[in-house]
Parts: sequence; structure tokens; C-alpha cells
Amino acid sequence: MTESRLPTPHSLLANAEIIAVGSELLAHDRLDTNSLFITEQLNALGVEVCRKQVVGDDRTRLTAAVGQALENAEIVILSGGLGPTEDDLTRDAVAAALGRELIFSEQILAWIEELFRQINRKMADINRRQAFLVEGAEPLPNPRGTAPGQWIDLGSRVVALLPGPPGELKPIFMNECVPRLEKLLPPQVIRTRFYRVAGMGESDLDALIAPVYTKVSNPATTILSGPSDIQVHLRARGRTAEQAETLLQAIAPRIEALLGDRIYSRNGDLLETVVGQMLRERGATLSVAESCTGGMLAQRITSIPGSSDYFSGGFLLYSNRMKTELAGVPAELIEQHTAVSEEVARAMAEGCRAKTGSSYAVSTTGEAGPESATGAPVGTVFLGIASEQKTDARRISVPGGRERVRTLATQIALDFLRRRLMAEG
Ligand code: ATP
Repeated sequence: MTESRLPTPHSLLANAEIIAVGSELLAHDRLDTNSLFITEQLNALGVEVCRKQVVGDDRTRLTAAVGQALENAEIVILSGGLGPTEDDLTRDAVAAALGRELIFSEQILAWIEELFRQINRKMADINRRQAFLVEGAEPLPNPRGTAPGQWIDLGSRVVALLPGPPGELKPIFMNECVPRLEKLLPPQVIRTRFYRVAGMGESDLDALIAPVYTKVSNPATTILSGPSDIQVHLRARGRTAEQAETLLQAIAPRIEALLGDRIYSRNGDLLETVVGQMLRERGATLSVAESCTGGMLAQRITSIPGSSDYFSGGFLLYSNRMKTELAGVPAELIEQHTAVSEEVARAMAEGCRAKTGSSYAVSTTGEAGPESATGAPVGTVFLGIASEQKTDARRISVPGGRERVRTLATQIALDFLRRRLMAEG
């Protein structure tokens, strides 16, 4: 294990908390993007962010938030609330949380006055508030604004106060905070593995891999369930890249073996990208015959640049008449089995393939709800795939509302095709 470059009391520095200050950030239309930026930069230094908070312009709440953050993390970064007005409370709250005074700094006053001189304006008295430093803080120059940042070294903790405007925060963080952190931090590296998984629900997936990942805390494993797929993230922290890799290797191969071919991507690629690559590699073409997914399948396939290499087109066969007229599905077949049936899914895929001349045709027909037109339970979807070799169909039952049924049916149809392409080589 490599020792810290600068063995100081900071050699334990590891976790960070970010507090974004400002009541405006609690509105429905404002995003705390500063925290995302800071997180990315801290992760690059091997620092894990263990909590983020957005706190309004309220002295008591902010003081409490700073106090809690100092209990939990070795690095506390605050953004915003350094302006000159009454509601800019970050300086006061940090001083109160630390039990320190605010000290007027002639050096900062000179910086602010110089900034106003450069734009030919007289500094307002109110800007003097920005010249107050938390006792013991080092001012961080802000070439783009009047509020300097502040860096407070508490020995086993550091606190940074940064201005809210991203155009000011980013350069101060990169030019002032990163070099200071690099000196203080022991070498720490984060290495990750990332899997996208199809073909199973979140709880089944958790039950499958929990016996492996719960045995260790490093790597940390996170399971994220999205609208149509599940992602598994492993994050290992080590003193060196090799150490982090070794930690990952202790569990990643076992998780991969358990998930098997349900993993469709290890680099973040979407299922439509993966399927597109498979079709391209095989020199195969694809068409779609969609009923309940209403074009979602074609939309996802064509959202990939270059999909014209393998996607021929397809049909939106919503009514029974269209199924018959455009894809040649026999009217008697629909009458006998209803439109939501394995037989019709097969006939839609075969008819679509015959009309388009593509190597593969995928069909969807189902009850997305809220009412059922055919008597099949809402959430029932049949998927078909036709190729030269054979036609397959499968029935799926998707819980949830109309959007979820359509979204998941689209994802499962793409995965059905992926598996078929794997099987046909
Ligand atoms: P100023 O001197 O401009 O008042 P300040 O440090 O007091 O600086 P705030 O008043 O909190 O900063 O925020 C100024 C502006 O910066 C906000 O109106 C918003 O547009 C942007 N901003 C603040 N915090 C964030 C954040 N966490 N993420 C993205 N933008 C932010």
C-alpha cells in the first residue's frame, strides 16, 4: 500500500459532503448543477461524496447542516450564499457552526475594490460584507466575481465556501481547491464496473447477486432501476489503480457469472445500440410491425445514428384492418384468436418480413390498458420474431400503467431480438 504523499493529519481524508445554498434551488425549475460538477471532480481525486444537500437561505437550518456535515465527512464544500445581500448567509452559518468569528479582511476589500475599478464602477457599501472571512480561513481569489471563496483547514477536516454562479465556482474549484486537496489527500483511486441488465426485475436481480455483494463494502454495489432496464454499478476505492482493480476482481467475475447473458452492456451502451451492432456485424436487416408499442420500437432503433445500415422500416398496425391489409394477417386468424394472441404476433412478424424483405421482423401486440379490448388481461403483450430460419413468439405480462407496459414491452422486444441474434450467431 502506498503511503500518503504528505503524511499529515489529513491522510484519512476520504469522504465529502456538498451543501448547495440558496432558496431558489428549492424551486421546481432550478437544478443544483454545481454539486454534479464538484462530485465529478472529487471522484477524479478518489474522494467519494457521501451526501449532498440543498438548503434554503435560512441561518438556523444552514448552521445545522454545516454542523452535521462536519460530523460525517472530512471534506465539506458549500456553494452559494456568498453574495453581498442579507440573504447570503453562508459565511455566518459556517462561522456559527465552527464557533468562530467573522473577521474583516482588508486584502479581500482591496480585491473587490479593484474588480469594481476594472469595470469603472464604484463599489457599493453593501459589498463590504463580502470582505468578511471566517476566522482562520484562507481567501480564494475569484477573478470573475466579487465573492471570494474561502478555505478553512481544521486539521482533520477541510471546509470550502464557494460562490454560487457556476462560471465563478468552477475556476475557483479547479485552480484553488483541487491543488490543495491533492496535497492533503493520500493517493486514492476509484475504479468502477457498470452492467446494464435485461430480462429480470429488480428484486429478482437483487436476490441473485446480494449473496455476493453484501459480503463486502468495498467495492460498493448499487442497483439502479430505470424505466426500462436495470443497472448494476460497482465502485471500488483503493490507494492505487491496481488495488482498486484487485478489489473489483474479487467480486465482479462472480456477479458477471450470475447475471450471464442478461448483461447486454458493460460500457453503458443502450439495448438499441447493442442490437444495432449485432445486426450490422451479421449484415442482417430488421423491420418492425408494431401494435401496442405504437412506434416506440422503431423510434428507439432509429434513434441510433447509422441505423439505416440495418433498419428497413415497418408498419404501425394498430387496427385489425391494418394488420390484415398491410401485413396480410388473415382476418379469420384475428377473429379466432383475437388480435392479442401468439398466432397474430407470429403472423404480423411473418407478414412484415415478407413485405419488407428484411432478415428479421419483430412484432408487438398487446393490451396496454387501462381497458382491455380483447379480454386479455391488461399488461399482456405478445412479441413475435420472424427470420428465414423460424418464427418465434412469446407472451409477457407487464405490470403497471399504460406507459410502463409500452416502455417495457419495447425493451423486452429488443432483448428478445438480441437473444435470437445471439442464438443464430
Ligand atoms: P452572488 O454574488 O452572485 O450572489 P452567491 O455565492 O451568493 O453569488 P447565489 O446568490 O447563491 O450565489 O447564486 C447566484 C446564482 O448562481 C444563482 O441565481 C444561480 O443561477 C447560480 N447557482 C447558485 N447555486 C447553484 C447551484 N448549486 N447549481 C447551479 N447554479 C447555481
